[in-house]
Parts: sequence; C-alpha cells; structure tokens
Amino acid sequence: MRTKDALEHLTPYQQGMQIEEVKKQFNLNKIVKLASNENPFGYSPKVKQYLKTKDFNLDIYPDGHASVIREVLANRLHVSQDQLVFGSGSDELIAIIARTYLTPQSNTIMATPTFPQYKHHAIIEGAQVIEVPVTETGAHDLEGMLDAVTAETRVIWLCTPNNPTGNALEYNQFIDFMNRCPKDVLVVLDEAYYEFLSKDKDLQAIELLDTYKNLLILRTFSKAYGLAGIRIGYGIGHEVIVNALNVIRGPFNTSSIAQELAVIALEDETFLQEVVHKNRQIRTEFEQFLDQLGWTYYPSETNFLFVKTPVSDDVVFNHLLQKGFIVRPGSKLGMPNTIRITIGQADDMKALQDILKTVE
Ligand SMILES: *Cc1c(COP(=O)(O)O)cnc(C)c1O
Repeated sequence: MRTKDALEHLTPYQQGMQIEEVKKQFNLNKIVKLASNENPFGYSPKVKQYLKTKDFNLDIYPDGHASVIREVLANRLHVSQDQLVFGSGSDELIAIIARTYLTPQSNTIMATPTFPQYKHHAIIEGAQVIEVPVTETGAHDLEGMLDAVTAETRVIWLCTPNNPTGNALEYNQFIDFMNRCPKDVLVVLDEAYYEFLSKDKDLQAIELLDTYKNLLILRTFSKAYGLAGIRIGYGIGHEVIVNALNVIRGPFNTSSIAQELAVIALEDETFLQEVVHKNRQIRTEFEQFLDQLGWTYYPSETNFLFVKTPVSDDVVFNHLLQKGFIVRPGSKLGMPNTIRITIGQADDMKALQDILKTVE
C-alpha cells in the first residue's frame, strides 16, 4: 500500500519510557516519571469525588458542541462562545490547524527546538517547514521568524512558555511581532503551561484578540489541571478561525467524560493555585541545587527544567533510568547534552538530587 509521500520520513510518536517497562528492566519497585510534564500532584479532589458519584451516559454520543464547558469557559475568559474550539487535547487542535491551513504550496514557521507536533503535522500536509533556532537563552528569535515570512507563509507557531526550553515570550516583543506580522498569517500561541506563568509574564493574550484577528491561543487541561488522561484542550480566537477549524474537527472529538470533568476542574481554583505554588517552590529549590552542583539550565516559567549536562545526555539519562527516574534526553529533541526534567514532588526531587551528584 502506498501512503502519502510525506509519510516516508515520519515515524509514530515515540513516547517516553513507560513505568512498567522500566520496573521490569531494572528490577525496581518505584519509578518516578519526569518525562512528559504531567502533574505530580494529580488532579483536583473535586474531580475525584465527582467521578465516584456520577453515572455517565456512556451509551450516547457526547455533545459535539461541548455546550456546557463552552459556556463555562466563555464566561470565565470573557470571550464569546463562538470564539472557542475544543480538541481531544491541544495535540488534536494542532493537527486540525495544520489540516485547515497548510498545503504543499505553503510554508509554516516555528522555533527549534519547540513542541515537535507542529512540525510533524506540517510535514503530513506537505508544507515546507521553516525552523528558526531559539536564542542562547532558549527564547524565540522573533526577528528571525519575521524575516523568514514569505508570501506562502500560512501559520507561525509560538510556544510560550516554550517546550522544551521553558522560557516565556516578552510582552513588548510579542506585540511588536504581532504588529509586523502579515494579517493573513495565522499566529498560533500555544500556552499549554499558561497557568504556571508568573504574573509579569502573562501576555493577557485574550485581551489582544480584538486587535489581532489572526491570533489563536491554545490551552489545555493536561498540565496544571493534571488531566492529561482525559484528553481535552481548547483554542481561543476569532470566530472566522474557529469556524474554519470546526469544518475539519470531527463531530464528537471530545468525550462526554472529558467535557464534564473539565467543568469540575475549572471550579477548583484552590487546587490549581496549590499546584502552581508547590511547583514554583520545588523548582526554585532544584535550581539552587543545580547551581551548587555547577550545572546550568534555561530560565523556566513551567513545571519542567531544561538542564545542560556536563556529559552526554544519554549517559545522564541511563544513569537516572537505572535508579528509577525517567527524564527526557535532549538529543531526541535536537539538543544534545541537555535533559528536560519535569518538576516532581518534593521528596522525589530530593532523591533525584542525590542521584545527580553521582553522575560522572
Ligand atoms: C503537552 C503539550 C501540548 C499537548 O497537550 P494536550 O492538550 O495533552 O494534547 C501542547 N503543546 C505543548 C507545548 C505541550 O507541552
């Protein structure tokens, strides 16, 4: 069977090593997975409680319009309901965006390294991918990205905070970028780690949607809300963009369970604030440890840290793996001699410190 030509150089997503796999291989009873930026504090106890008491009508299709979560979010974000689009995780929205806007005649611009799914879906659509290296500090080179724009550019992907480097866009630079970016180029602002941002790094991008009708913001329940398993994320943008995406979106792309649980999760502001607070505290302690150890890292506004390793990242990765810690080696992301470490629970991060001291 002949696939699309584009698939010749693509492989299925290689997920980080799974817990059971590592347990068996190294004969360990406890594994700490710090590879996928999942929430080490789980999800809201209100969601847990709701799951116990609720009988879902699983025999019928979900509400394809996601009416309830749509109304709740629209009120909370002060946008109109027509400005929202939901996906089975923001991952699916990335695929839908690529399918909606990219063709073999077009190109798309993104940072490197950044979230790999932008490139993956652009290639599937046959579009030309233009990658602009991040700066020394891991920030987007917005000037370089603007310079790369051509008449064929359809989508520019900005990831803030950027995965894997962890740093966030600066407000003034972002505004300058939006002012100079052609109005017919879609700018996707992926804010998967939005809730972790410090206040002064919050772009308040929703307030900019009236000014920049080519801006689409992506957010998710997978990271700070700790609900990666239910698969729900959303886009916020002008209704012209949302309408186009809705043509491509499958009719029942988010499950009824995901829609309901997202509503409950949104109500628990206390849990979210606890997560953000603990993450910041543990990340700071871990940064101080790395300072003492003499290892450097990129500035982070997220629940992960992109760390430069004094020896090859493979060596560090394997050393940690044998002790039951799974991290993400940077070589896989095109950045050798770095590892991306999700900030875990306090005691696990202490244990990780002891192991890192023995890397040689
Ligand atoms: C985790 C992540 C996503 C995907 O999140 P889902 O909503 O779980 O699909 C999207 N973008 C970035 C930058 C991420 O890190």
